[in-house]
Amino acid sequence: MDEYRDAALTRRLAETLARATTRPWTIMEVCGGQTHAIVKFGLDQLLPPGLELVHGPGCPVCVTPIELMDKALEIAARPEAIFCSFGDMLRVPGTEQDLLTVKARGGDVRIVYSPLDAVKLARENPMREVVFFAVGFETTAPANAMAVAQARTFGLKHFSLLVSHALVPPAMESILASPANRVQGFLAAGHVCTVMGFTEYEPLARRYRVPIVVTGFEPLDILQGVLLCVQQLEAGRAEVENPYARAVRREGNTPAQQLIREVFRVVPRKWRGVGEIPRSGLGLSETYAEFDAEQRFGVAGVRAEESSECISGLILQGIRKPHECPAFGTRCTPEHPLGATMVSSEGACAAYHRYRRAQATHP
Ligand code: SF4
Repeated sequence: MDEYRDAALTRRLAETLARATTRPWTIMEVCGGQTHAIVKFGLDQLLPPGLELVHGPGCPVCVTPIELMDKALEIAARPEAIFCSFGDMLRVPGTEQDLLTVKARGGDVRIVYSPLDAVKLARENPMREVVFFAVGFETTAPANAMAVAQARTFGLKHFSLLVSHALVPPAMESILASPANRVQGFLAAGHVCTVMGFTEYEPLARRYRVPIVVTGFEPLDILQGVLLCVQQLEAGRAEVENPYARAVRREGNTPAQQLIREVFRVVPRKWRGVGEIPRSGLGLSETYAEFDAEQRFGVAGVRAEESSECISGLILQGIRKPHECPAFGTRCTPEHPLGATMVSSEGACAAYHRYRRAQATHP
């Protein structure tokens, strides 16, 4: 990765960006990996005055609705269940507790590194109910789809998915359509586009007159994405550009898309802190409905309650920054999080707390 972190090239790109910028602009990145890279490498501090980067709803853990967290907690506490999850969901707060607490109280909660590990567990434990917490954007949907398809092939009736899949383009549209919107250009998440391509963004760019640049995760990728976005804004253009061609093709990964279409269907979805966005999530298709953990465990009507102090919804829409939250670094820390954005490895509050705490708490 060294070539994409070259300090001299980064400085030259920042100078080009400064020359290209004649007016204030607000650009949003929609990827938690990019948010962390921006804060970690101080890329926002290299920008010319008036050019602002705001952080969007690009962390799938952060946007998992609290109702679903509470359902996960209820299922994980059942004695018959082995509840499998990626590690970064374990500290995400539900209404009263998190998965780590359930585990400490005797729940069989296991960290896995792939949904296929959960399928393997199901084959090894025929007398238990094995549940995989399928959280993610379009990026992780193919692997999760493959896990369900495998479970079906192996006849694993005791395997299920608790699905929390979110789709990025409808969330971007919801931000653009909001009266509070101040985003004028987007850096689209490179990894999402690796799977889905970028044709979905073209109608958005046209309808809302907004440039969208498919962007990678390294410092030079991000600065190049910002530069191309600014050049479009300055020239009055609103197009989709793909400088991340080393990983993304226009049509994306079509076999992966086919698998997603086979296993999932598009559904309305609630985004934590933001609310419901039409056609912004994936649920299991009719063919795979028997693998739906919500139905199997009968946890459809769980009551959930957000922390009244947490403003992560505003942060995820680019309206506020993490250090503007009154609880940041005091009542809300990674050890005692009030919201998911403080605890997820891709969360904006976690990034500011890790790399900017001193500046943020002592301006
Ligand atoms: S600092 Fe904590 S309480 Fe504030 S928005 Fe972030 S997660 Fe929520």
